[in-house]
Amino acid sequence: MSKLPEFILTVEDVSKSFDGFQAISELNFYMDKGELRTIIGPNGAGKSTFLDLITGKIKADTGKIIFGEENHDLTKLREYEINRLGIARKFQTPSVYEEHTVYDNIMLSLPESRGVFSSIFFRLDSVARDRIAEILKTIRLQDMERVIAGTLSHGQKQWLEIGMLLVQQPRLLLVDEPAAGMSDDETRRTGELLLSLEGKHSIIVIEHDMEFVRQIARKVTVLHQGKVLKEGSMDSVQSDPTVAEVYLGRKHSTVA
Ligand code: ADP
Ligand code: MG
Repeated sequence: MSKLPEFILTVEDVSKSFDGFQAISELNFYMDKGELRTIIGPNGAGKSTFLDLITGKIKADTGKIIFGEENHDLTKLREYEINRLGIARKFQTPSVYEEHTVYDNIMLSLPESRGVFSSIFFRLDSVARDRIAEILKTIRLQDMERVIAGTLSHGQKQWLEIGMLLVQQPRLLLVDEPAAGMSDDETRRTGELLLSLEGKHSIIVIEHDMEFVRQIARKVTVLHQGKVLKEGSMDSVQSDPTVAEVYLGRKHSTVA
């Protein structure tokens, strides 16, 4: 009867208001396991609020957010419990251990290393070493593993932080505006990185940069006034007159 097990995330009738302002309004959203989903929408559409609801930073007023094969209802869990289920969020500003090497940043993020201090006594087994090497390759910093993280470019720090989350093998990765502040070349490489994770990880990317969205677009969800306005391929979204209207404030044009 239920189709829930196919989905990594099932959001049904979720609403959230702030002092009477409806930021998320009876939202329905379904995502398959292994999907790379991009969410776009004008400022104030509710994109960040949606991520806040998934991670438990804020609580929904109504509705359900069902996660994983075990059908956990995230609206009933605390933020740390949700994090423990394997939901990781990448914020806009990179936070890496600036004074440590690239390699150590990944190592210190291994769940079994439990952070900076215990890691002095922590010995890596070959499985962990292989995992670190694989992550370094994925984020294309394998030739920079001895570089001090504080000296990396903004884009490289962002990739390193993505690597620090990936090494924890999240079941759902939430990425808020990864291209912000990046050069064109870094933005393109970030797109390639996210595309390389498709199928292996379930990922939601929120993004403003349309060029970047076009690069990574698989299924695209357009949020507007806390609801899904349109969902589908980039082409179908871009040619939709209602989408053009909310972005550009006029009818009969397309999203640039
Ligand atoms: P987006 O990320 O799509 O730009 P947000 O989710 O940040 O939009 O915000 C959606 C709306 O909810 C905005 O009008 C914003 O001002 C409002 N909002 C978000 N968080 C809060 C909050 N903690 N208190 C009051 N209003 C908020
Ligand atoms: Mg936002």
